[in-house]
Amino acid sequence: MYRPLANIWKFNFNSLKRCYQSSKALPDLTKDRYAVKRGDYATIDDNDIKHFESIVSSSRCITDTSDIEPYNVDFLGAVRGYSQVLLKPKTTEEVSAILKYCNSRKLAVASQGGNTGLVGGSVPVFDEVILSMQLMNKIEHVDETAGILVCQSGCILEKLEEHVSNCGLSMPIDLGAKGTCHIGGNVSTNAGGLRLIRYGNLHGNVLGVEAVKADGTILDLMSNFKKDNTGYHLKHLFIGSEGTLGVITKLAIACPTASKAVNVAFLGLESYDALLKTFLAAKRDLGEILSACELIDKLSLEAVLQQYKLNSPLSEYPFYLLLETSGSNMEHDEEKISHFLESAMERGDILDGTVTNETSKVARIWQLRETISTALVKEGYVFKYDVSLPLSHFYDIVPVMRERVGDLAYRVCGYGHVGDSNLHLNVSCAEFNQEIYKRVEPFVYEYTSKLRGSVSAEHGIGFLKTNYLKYSKQPEALNLMKEMKAVMDPNGILNPYKVLPRQN
Ligand SMILES: Cc1cc2nc3c(=O)[nH]c(=O)nc-3n(C[C@H](O)[C@H](O)[C@H](O)COP(=O)(O)OP(=O)(O)OC[C@H]3O[C@@H](n4cnc5c(N)ncnc54)[C@H](O)[C@@H]3O)c2cc1C
Repeated sequence: MYRPLANIWKFNFNSLKRCYQSSKALPDLTKDRYAVKRGDYATIDDNDIKHFESIVSSSRCITDTSDIEPYNVDFLGAVRGYSQVLLKPKTTEEVSAILKYCNSRKLAVASQGGNTGLVGGSVPVFDEVILSMQLMNKIEHVDETAGILVCQSGCILEKLEEHVSNCGLSMPIDLGAKGTCHIGGNVSTNAGGLRLIRYGNLHGNVLGVEAVKADGTILDLMSNFKKDNTGYHLKHLFIGSEGTLGVITKLAIACPTASKAVNVAFLGLESYDALLKTFLAAKRDLGEILSACELIDKLSLEAVLQQYKLNSPLSEYPFYLLLETSGSNMEHDEEKISHFLESAMERGDILDGTVTNETSKVARIWQLRETISTALVKEGYVFKYDVSLPLSHFYDIVPVMRERVGDLAYRVCGYGHVGDSNLHLNVSCAEFNQEIYKRVEPFVYEYTSKLRGSVSAEHGIGFLKTNYLKYSKQPEALNLMKEMKAVMDPNGILNPYKVLPRQN
């Protein structure tokens, strides 16, 4: 039977902390671990530092090694650069002046948002200048009637959600890293997240951007309208290009009306087949109010419960499905949910479950899903894969991978946005392990490619996946990407070694 949620959580999940900082040794330098050759870029000297100080003042031109260190290492502790300078601009004009100078000197630049990216895109590979967008965090305007937010790109997603909720709106994107990631980072990675099933991706929700090209040119592509068919849709070049074509400084984003009625159900299931049937029934029975649909397997939940000392509201099942509905009428929504749950339980698809609309309990159920990523990182090193796969074969790769890595890994688990055919496959172990690496890659990408899936559903390509892009993009498409890069950034100063395949 499904029953109300007991008040059993003691854990308080605040904003994300980089796990490596508290408990782990620094990872190897990227150039050593992945044998990369430095590009033909200039090296920072005293005159460069003086020039940067003249643009952003000395307090925002940071050269102290220990202050820079957290910006040199990614969230997963998978990649580490050794930049000597960190710049924190506050205005678009400062970003423009920095890029213009770096381009003229051929100094490479790594732009960084909240540094929560999971593909090693946000940190330097060698000694690139780090351009942190942290201080570009002004909210400029909210149009309550049209439902549009205009803000600088360094605003933290969670702060934006709080801000727009005061105007009866909501952000069209939500993800576990919301307390730390920037909206500019979200747009640059075209982040998917937990609400994509309802609101679609950022290509649809971003109405306009302001971006700075590699040579310092400021492009004003701002628009406050959903409809604007005036020539090439240039804003899309910056959405999902991971800082390789320009730096986003400002954006306008469509914000849906906040839902008055939010319900969350957490369900226990015997098999992936039962989960798929339940998902289909949810789409049919819940229709327009379905706003999230997340799969969690037994081992993913186990990691969260162990690492954060939480209790599950359900006893142990091979699979769990987290469903959220967002609507405007609680009575109507509850009726729909009850009908859906009763039918699914009668058919025997759902074995147990709990449903709630109390805000604190809704948040606690979401914690179980949102902390999986950090729980796995706390266990040691994680080989993380983010693939799109057809739902008919969605989970098959998890047992296959378990078999391949055998006892070498602590845990091989799968979770993710089943509503969007997006699986997060994770292989965790004590520390980076070459043997596991060889067994997992490129196998996981070959497997995905055979099913015509995507080797990166939502995290992007960054540094870690550049050599696997070919599994999802044909040579002609790759060539066009290279040509576009050459037009936008002829000196290749923006996020080198990222997205496009490396020569070595
Ligand atoms: C716990 C957790 C949960 C996550 N859940 C999801 C999820 O559900 N869905 C999802 O898609 N991702 C998820 N991620 C990955 C990550 O949070 C997203 O990729 C996020 O969009 C990155 O934002 P950021 O500000 O941290 O960017 P960063 O990590 O700092 O940068 C990411 C990339 O964007 C570039 N960039 C950043 N800001 C700018 C800018 N202003 N202009 C140009 N380029 C820029 C960087 O150079 C880099 O290439 C999760 C990560 C964690 C740790």
